[in-house]
Amino acid sequence: MRRVCAISALFAATLPVCAAVRLAEADLTVVLDFKQPLNQRAISEMEHEADGILSSTGMHLDWRDRSHIEGASFADVVVFTFKGACSVDPDPVPPLYDELGPLAVTKTTNGAIQPFGEVDCNRVSALVRSAMWGGDFSRSNELLGRALGRVVAHELVHMVTKSGEHSRTGVQERALSGKQLIADELPLSAVDLDRVRLRLFHPAAAGAH
Ligand SMILES: [Zn+2]
Repeated sequence: MRRVCAISALFAATLPVCAAVRLAEADLTVVLDFKQPLNQRAISEMEHEADGILSSTGMHLDWRDRSHIEGASFADVVVFTFKGACSVDPDPVPPLYDELGPLAVTKTTNGAIQPFGEVDCNRVSALVRSAMWGGDFSRSNELLGRALGRVVAHELVHMVTKSGEHSRTGVQERALSGKQLIADELPLSAVDLDRVRLRLFHPAAAGAH
């Protein structure tokens, strides 16, 4: 079991795009910034997985690559940077970290959660690899994408709810194992589903300002 998320402090950044057009209430643009190439199958699977986890909240995710958004403007946007190598190849299996740190972090500034996430591809890849066996290796990009989708969905819940809160079950657990990351399903818990919907559709009741 390893920690999937931690909040880093005092990070300031500038949104690459600005608000201009208001989309439907729960539309959210997710900008992906890959520091190293990621297999297209893995990207598609990541988007599909995160879409599926969050679809029951009423949130619709609009995925964009950082390299293709010049001049674009979005109403609600978050940015995910993927650092390191998102790949479960090549063999042989490299050694695991003794202490896996966070798989991803959501940035905060003075305690306030910001719409910026950073995914540690090396750590996610190592954890996925450690949980794979047998036939899993023939669909490594699918499983890696699935894991990344769960990590991204986890951070998106932090961003949307503006909370570092975790749950006892589901994708919003504080720490997720490699097995959980590639299991057939890892949904939002009912508690998290309610928290997200409350923030999206009844922000006043959720304590938004
Ligand atoms: Zn978390």
